[in-house]
Amino acid sequence: MKKIGVLTSGGDSPGMNAAVRAVVRKAIYHGVEVAGVYSGYQGLIEGNIKNLEAGDVGDIIQRGGTKLYSARCEEFRTEAGQLKAIEQMKKEGLEGLVVIGGDGSYRGAMALTKRGFPCVGVPGTIDNDIPGTDYTIGFDTALNTVIEAIDKIRDTATSHERTFIVEVMGRDAGDLALWAGLAGGAETILIPEESYDIGDMIDRLQKGRDRGKRHSIIIVAEGVMGGNELKALIKEKADIETRVSVLGHIQRGGSPTARDRVLGSLFGARAVEVLIEGVGGRAIGMKNHQVVDYDMTEAFTAEHNADMSLYTLSKELAI
Ligand code: ADP
Repeated sequence: MKKIGVLTSGGDSPGMNAAVRAVVRKAIYHGVEVAGVYSGYQGLIEGNIKNLEAGDVGDIIQRGGTKLYSARCEEFRTEAGQLKAIEQMKKEGLEGLVVIGGDGSYRGAMALTKRGFPCVGVPGTIDNDIPGTDYTIGFDTALNTVIEAIDKIRDTATSHERTFIVEVMGRDAGDLALWAGLAGGAETILIPEESYDIGDMIDRLQKGRDRGKRHSIIIVAEGVMGGNELKALIKEKADIETRVSVLGHIQRGGSPTARDRVLGSLFGARAVEVLIEGVGGRAIGMKNHQVVDYDMTEAFTAEHNADMSLYTLSKELAI
């Protein structure tokens, strides 16, 4: 392979820049040219593609977001859109593409691979919800952002003897809520994977108060319900006042943690190694502390399983 492309797609996540940097530099290291595709599949269709040199990805490893920008693109879901994309890549002399994104982006990458244009996927999402990898790029940074927020909320909760509800991201996957709940010492964690029992939650709140706890933190993943909805439910069932903090998009931003930079670098480099062997349709991941590559289809057909032992432990500890 003489020249490859790299793009970031779907929801951005901190550490994507480290992955882009690794793709560019690893390719150059192997004597392969690289081009960056700007604004995901939209840019691919429009031919928004520029050659990247080693220096072009300097000073980005520490930055959140993505230097290549990201986008969602409806046209790319169609055959016509995909053929246009392939035409643009051929015009630029590209022979393979690294796609950094979530499972939606992987579906797009697989579609291109099936049309004869090899793509390799790198998991970038704060949700940590891609099957086949234990971690995705951005999860650790988002988790630390949530923890920082919980710690601050806990200070004011203790001072005023209050119960706080913290709503975190996670439409289908509860990883962020689970890890943040355990690391933040939350009394209760509500995640999409587990049905909740409002009576049990109220019991816990009351028990905590009875033993003199001045604060309670409830973490709710957005996929279960909104923080304000939960507040209304607790008020209705137990007449307990709560305060709500919806963390929102701050969870997606910020300088990536060391862990996400390392993960981005490892994944980006491995993607290039796989791609320059001419292999497409593979996804990169971390399994049992080893960087692996596996059939990309698994990433959007298998089910993601959150680590439920964290849920159990957090319940045991929050007595
Ligand atoms: P993420 O990659 O974060 O899961 P999305 O699900 O929004 O984000 O997907 C990003 C983009 O990937 C979409 O805007 C679309 O262009 C492309 N895509 C998603 N699903 C498919 C599909 N089934 N076929 C082709 N392209 C797809």
